[in-house]
Amino acid sequence: MVRVMAPKPPPGTAPLLDRIRSTVLESGTGLDEAGVLEVLTSPDETLPDLLGLAHEVRMRWCGPEVEVEGIVSVKTGGCPEDCHFCSQSGRFDSPVRAMWLDIAALVEAAKQTAETGATEFCIVAAVRGPDERLMAQVRDGVTAIKEAVDINVAASLGMLTQAQVDELVEIGIHRYNHNLETARSFFPSVVSTHSWQERWDTLRMVRDAGMEVCCGGILGLGESLEQRAEFAVQLAALGPDEVPLNFLNPRPGTPLHDRVVLDPRDALRAIAAFRFALPRTILRFAGGREITLGDLGTRDGLLGGVNAIIVGNYLTTLGRPASDDLALLADLAMPVKALSATL
Ligand code: SF4
Repeated sequence: MVRVMAPKPPPGTAPLLDRIRSTVLESGTGLDEAGVLEVLTSPDETLPDLLGLAHEVRMRWCGPEVEVEGIVSVKTGGCPEDCHFCSQSGRFDSPVRAMWLDIAALVEAAKQTAETGATEFCIVAAVRGPDERLMAQVRDGVTAIKEAVDINVAASLGMLTQAQVDELVEIGIHRYNHNLETARSFFPSVVSTHSWQERWDTLRMVRDAGMEVCCGGILGLGESLEQRAEFAVQLAALGPDEVPLNFLNPRPGTPLHDRVVLDPRDALRAIAAFRFALPRTILRFAGGREITLGDLGTRDGLLGGVNAIIVGNYLTTLGRPASDDLALLADLAMPVKALSATL
């Protein structure tokens, strides 16, 4: 009997899953922009296979551990910037009011976070960039936390000067969060008070100073699928240690208050696509996962490329109880990353 071999497809035209297998899975190299767009536009029937492959990529290049983080807002609301998705902007008529947290409350929040088994505690402030008062608050807060709790301390304080970057390194901030938020080409549609480049400049200084870089964004702001793919590869070009993925949870009073929440299938396709673009990066479920995906979606995401979560509440919206997420991780046999593994 003569065996007829299927003709080998010319390079670049092999089925998408095969190409991802041979590049991303085998070599740990991120998918290019055209490939990411293909994932984002793939039909619903392929979604289970895409998520399964994204999970394989995560297991191969990141392992089974899940990094758990708590966040606390040291200064909430009243931000002078106009990011259209953000209820902490002082420019919109949103119900979030300006508020400061004192040192004792910061330490208490860090303790509670550590009790969940989390290894990361991120101090966040709604500001364009820190002033002297905020830097002093963070300096004193980090000192007090390090005396009382065994946990990594990260910070998210907006755009920085070189002197501020150096000071954060000195006080022991090990990771800095600053999100690019969305694709460079779409950014001016949702922020007018500063540029994507200004955010990029802070991230470059942070990386050059030796802090770990945490940089992600929000999906569902009205960006096109092409722009979502553009964003994924722009993040990959930065080479961040962690990418938090948020899904827009439209907040009352903000210019995006009436945007329709992302379709859960699009959200899951995006999770797989970002995992393929960033095979070795910590990919964290951040805000909006509950409203976009529901409880089942959290499971799908963790089995589709995500390997980090934020437990408890977000900055201005409520999350699931931490115990629900920890029970889910136990159910999925995914160990919480130990502190010693992150130092
Ligand atoms: S996203 Fe950050 S910079 Fe923009 S308005 Fe909100 S707190 Fe301010």
